[in-house]
Amino acid sequence: MEFDTIAAISTAMGEGAIAIVRISGEDAIKVVDKIYKGRKSLGEVESHTIHYGHIIDQNTGQVIDEVMVTVLKAPRTFTRENIVEINCHGGLVSVNRVLQQVLRSGSRLAEPGEFTKRAFLNGRIDLSQAEGVIDLIRAKTDKAMNVAIGQVEGRLSAKIQKLRNALLETVAHVEVNIDYPEYDAEEMTNQLLKEKARYVSSEIDKILGTAEQGKILREGLSTVIIGRPNVGKSSLLNSLVHETKAIVTDIPGTTRDVIEEYVNVRGVPLRLLDTAGIRETEDIVEKIGVERSRQVVKQAELVLLVLNFGEPLSNEDENLFQIVEGMDSIIIVNKTDIPQKIDMAKVEELASGRPIVTTSLVEDQGIDELEDAISKLFFQGNIEGGDLTYVSNSRHIALLHQAKRTIEDAIFALESDVPVDMVQIDITRTWEILGEIIGDTVSESLIDQLFAQFCLGK
Ligand code: GDP
Ligand code: ZN
Repeated sequence: MEFDTIAAISTAMGEGAIAIVRISGEDAIKVVDKIYKGRKSLGEVESHTIHYGHIIDQNTGQVIDEVMVTVLKAPRTFTRENIVEINCHGGLVSVNRVLQQVLRSGSRLAEPGEFTKRAFLNGRIDLSQAEGVIDLIRAKTDKAMNVAIGQVEGRLSAKIQKLRNALLETVAHVEVNIDYPEYDAEEMTNQLLKEKARYVSSEIDKILGTAEQGKILREGLSTVIIGRPNVGKSSLLNSLVHETKAIVTDIPGTTRDVIEEYVNVRGVPLRLLDTAGIRETEDIVEKIGVERSRQVVKQAELVLLVLNFGEPLSNEDENLFQIVEGMDSIIIVNKTDIPQKIDMAKVEELASGRPIVTTSLVEDQGIDELEDAISKLFFQGNIEGGDLTYVSNSRHIALLHQAKRTIEDAIFALESDVPVDMVQIDITRTWEILGEIIGDTVSESLIDQLFAQFCLGK
């Protein structure tokens, strides 16, 4: 494919010690050579080497910055094109001046995600790997990062490819059966198809089994803290934010427009909801009634229900139990440092199997136990992000569900002794749907849409 030469600042904006301007394309080396002054011209250097020199203003000859320039020749590069990376001094002004020179000497500013898009279009990575790059940029915890890295490395792609190959083999069998009916292999083919189809179906199930956790790792678990006034909701929020590693979410250039607060609880990113005061619903029941508060709380995936150890259970508390009915929730009985007035047996009865954690937030007690409870609830305490290939991307999950339905149709048809050549349609369709995950069979507009989510310089 023929592409022009693109350039962008590929390090995060701001006051880093160094910043990198990345240039990719046929003319990358030529473009930089025009504005680079060093011991050798960049046209003469070996691939994958780094060179000290200066970037100069083409017109005035004035020195813009002292730099290290890396030259990477196609095809052994991220985009499979020539790439030059200029390591210049950090700081917005200096890196922008270098970028301006690069643009003036024959390249254009890259669109968000355009480097990764080229890697995809040039066959260096597939679509799910490219999407993994987006996730990697946005990963909120180490675990989420491991999941993304696995995806970039192509672990999900490899699984999908394996299933597609299995399907392709079965289609080949059907073809043989149609072409040489004299072999009378119909019965055998049916048996074999059933086996393969069931195998594919159960493998899809396995992958989908990781979806819930994968999505949580990727997107965070929307969480709301509820409780009567004064039980310690704000204190709990503060403890969570301070005890755990706070997560930076305002990555420049990303499309996120609502700044949300994330906390990292043992690798589970909690997304503390902050729309219309849901995060901390003081007097929510009093203000809007049980029914409406239920609607509000419903938007959360995890509810932390806080009670006061030093006060008897009130009607209001009992209403809150009603509200969290059917939801994932953890009961927190706070203020264990003051004399007990709450009836714990009654709390247990109301909790009916939900985890109960006792805390004294002023004395810093119980936060560990709470974190345990949260991580147990979602990872049964033993799954590490690095061990499993999670499917975390909604697009992939939807396609897997679709593939599952289609392969089930095929299995049903085979069991009802529908002629195998009819079943072939469903099997081929399953193969196509799985192909969309890795970008084998997707439309151009979808590709544009996906890459538009990237930040600049990636
Ligand atoms: P909220 O109204 O539910 O948000 O409750 P706050 O977090 O604002 O806390 C209400 C009051 O209870 C504050 O004065 C806190 O310092 C206090 N408080 C919070 N946690 C504890 C605790 O574990 N023990 C005691 N004794 N007081 C606490
Ligand atoms: Zn409060």
